[in-house]
Amino acid sequence: MKHIFGPVTSRRYGLSLGVDLSVPKTCSFNCSFCQIGPTPQTSVTRTAQPPIQDILAELHQWLKSKEPADFITAAGSGEPTLHLHFSEVLRFARNEARCRSLLLSNGSLFSLPEVRQDAALADVVKISLHAWDQHSFESISRPHPSLCFDAIIEGYRQFRLDFKGQIDLEVFIVPGINDTPDQVRKIANIAASFHPDTIMLNTAVRPPADNSVTRCPQTHLRLLAHLFTPVAQAVGDEPAASFPDLKPEVLLELVSRHPASLRFLSTGFKKPEQEIRALLDSLASSSKLRIAEHQGELWVFPQ
Ligand code: SF4
Repeated sequence: MKHIFGPVTSRRYGLSLGVDLSVPKTCSFNCSFCQIGPTPQTSVTRTAQPPIQDILAELHQWLKSKEPADFITAAGSGEPTLHLHFSEVLRFARNEARCRSLLLSNGSLFSLPEVRQDAALADVVKISLHAWDQHSFESISRPHPSLCFDAIIEGYRQFRLDFKGQIDLEVFIVPGINDTPDQVRKIANIAASFHPDTIMLNTAVRPPADNSVTRCPQTHLRLLAHLFTPVAQAVGDEPAASFPDLKPEVLLELVSRHPASLRFLSTGFKKPEQEIRALLDSLASSSKLRIAEHQGELWVFPQ
């Protein structure tokens, strides 16, 4: 399968079948903390690539396999709303797979009524807010030059008025950029104006695009979480449940989208680190993946 992956277990959404609408990475932001890697060139041009028929064909093939999933997730190696037909994935989830749908978006195009209208087909929409004004937005998200912070927030407010489903908000905390209580209070005030159902505070638990970005300590993250209404949840790095059996193809599939730490894999597979490491070493020696140290931990990257 080229466009769909998983189902993978996530702590928040259970078993989720991912649909990658933006390969190679296409994004309107070039966040310093991006865990996929740098954006070659930010874009706000919506395209019909990859062809939606190819994606739907894979989804139909998956449906025949009768593999269970709690969610079908429109996501990918970039911003899914840059795909003109992302709503087809949400429709497939509702009408064909009869499971819930999730849209993971950076929210950059929510100023556009047509994007909000299509996003409203999802059961859950996860959007992001890491800044409090245009200047902080530009230093954290490094957006396409045409993007206006206030217009995006106005789009969020309008979306909240029209959308009856669940809005989850992600706030990514970067030490030295948006981690003081004053800064976070400003973010929390803006968040309160569009009433997200849940709020998650995230930090660089995986190696970021920019190596100078560090992880916010969990204790500080928990402190900041209380500045939000509702109180935010500080995100850790532990998987929600166990992964399937430990096999080379399962491991490769897992790390093909995001780097994973040895500790994370050991928890997910419920296997000792040595056992995972032995398999990783053999896959690395045949150039199927890459192992490197980051902030004192061993990480596995796609080759
Ligand atoms: S973190 Fe998300 S929004 Fe930011 S550059 Fe990466 S894919 Fe784009």
